[in-house]
Amino acid sequence: MGNRVFSDKKRFIWILSLLLLTAFAVTSGISYQVAHDSLSKQIKDNNLPLTSDNIYSEIQQDLLRPIFISSLMAQDTFVRDWAINQEQTPDDLIRYLKEIQEKYETVTSFFVSESSRNYYHSSGVLKRIEDINPDDAWYFRVRSLPKSEHYEVNIDPDSADQNRTVIYVNYKVFDFDGNFIGVTGVGLAVESVKRLIELYQQRYNRNVYFTDRQGNITLHSELYQGASNLQDSPGLEKLATRILTSPSSSFAYQKEGQTVYLNSRLVSEFKWHLVVEQDDAQSEQKLLTTFWVNIGLSLLVTIGVLIIANMTLGKYQRKLEVMASTDKLTGAANRQAFEEHFAKVLTQSVLDGSPISILLMDIDHFKKVNDSHGHNVGDLVIQTLSHLLKGQLGEEELLCRWGGEEFLILLPKCSLSQGGELAERIRGLVAERELSVNGSQINVTISCGVAEYRHAEKAEELINRVDIALYQAKEQGRNRVVLSY
Ligand code: GH3
Ligand code: MG
Ligand code: MG
Repeated sequence: MGNRVFSDKKRFIWILSLLLLTAFAVTSGISYQVAHDSLSKQIKDNNLPLTSDNIYSEIQQDLLRPIFISSLMAQDTFVRDWAINQEQTPDDLIRYLKEIQEKYETVTSFFVSESSRNYYHSSGVLKRIEDINPDDAWYFRVRSLPKSEHYEVNIDPDSADQNRTVIYVNYKVFDFDGNFIGVTGVGLAVESVKRLIELYQQRYNRNVYFTDRQGNITLHSELYQGASNLQDSPGLEKLATRILTSPSSSFAYQKEGQTVYLNSRLVSEFKWHLVVEQDDAQSEQKLLTTFWVNIGLSLLVTIGVLIIANMTLGKYQRKLEVMASTDKLTGAANRQAFEEHFAKVLTQSVLDGSPISILLMDIDHFKKVNDSHGHNVGDLVIQTLSHLLKGQLGEEELLCRWGGEEFLILLPKCSLSQGGELAERIRGLVAERELSVNGSQINVTISCGVAEYRHAEKAEELINRVDIALYQAKEQGRNRVVLSY
């Protein structure tokens, strides 16, 4: 019985832990997934387009200025008159270019004449443009732009200082009849635009860069670590066309096992695409931390619940065990407890060769007690006797309620004669003591059989012998002890 209760308890604890852990894992997993999904959605649908819009309008403001200045230069009647009039007094134009450059704080300003192919710069006539020189290809490209396109923006080394990269706005100039007479414009230092991008990048914590129509990454901050064109960017190989062929795009892609959200839009003034990217690594890390903290707390709760369950069940189990092994009326052991106890004592006796004896006692003429005082008083007499007996026994000696008013006492390390002495002492005690029950004094006597365990004897045989001895005690007139030899 004890073992069954124990294994039931073990199973219960296992099932409970499995249930709790599964429930916790599932809820933590689901809440992680929900948070993850809403985070992705938040980034994709809200944060990224918003920052992209902000960056777009700010960069546009900053970059539109040189386009506007170049357009003013191309429309300027002084510039056009001067060119039409055979480019006399170059100093006049050079002074004009210098003034533009200083006033608008650009890094360069220039005019290239179609008729002389002279490259005028704020510092003088730099050189002649030649169609065989690859450095001058830009001029011929601008010249052959379709009629609807008035300018081109491109990034090139500075014509006056090859170490410096400049964003040029190349604006077509026409005479008053609409004939092409040259290209004018200003240049911005790439570094200042890069700083601008860096500023946005830091402010919004996003990756910001520009690509031209071919996918070449034209502008990026110092922090940029990607490829030099979209087609070579990890994860974007197949998506590059999507970015380059649409005025705006928005999607997520996988880059080195990370989800990256991308938003692009065409900046029509430059024919460039502004790309704003954001990975979810940081927020993802936070989510993961929360997830593991959840799991950790769940484990703690599970362990706590299991400890409490274990303790409660243990208490319940011990109670059951006590209930199963004791007699309700007297609190003495019952027959089943005797069997278990006897087996233990026997094992010990086999090991050390010590004797075992048992006493079997029965109240004499107990029917009379019941008859004259009532059954309830009879019960109290049994209870009182049980306490009296218990008081005479040592820790290792076991008192059992064997039947109605019969008690069996198991005496380990006790020979027949020692058992007989104890029995005699108890008998005398009971006989001389008046049991005071419910206000009335009741005298009872007991008869007792004593037997010592014999080698290889079965428990039933021993009990049978002690029973016979008790019977003999009754036969011989009661209130006496008989030893079984
Ligand atoms: P004797 O043992 O001396 O031969 O006579 P006795 O009258 O005691 O006879 P026996 O032991 O055979 O009968 C026991 C009686 O005790 C029978 C029953 O009415 C009563 N009895 C048994 N169990 C209980 C009990 O739990 N409470 C009460 N009040 N009486 C019980
Ligand atoms: Mg009896
Ligand atoms: Mg009796």
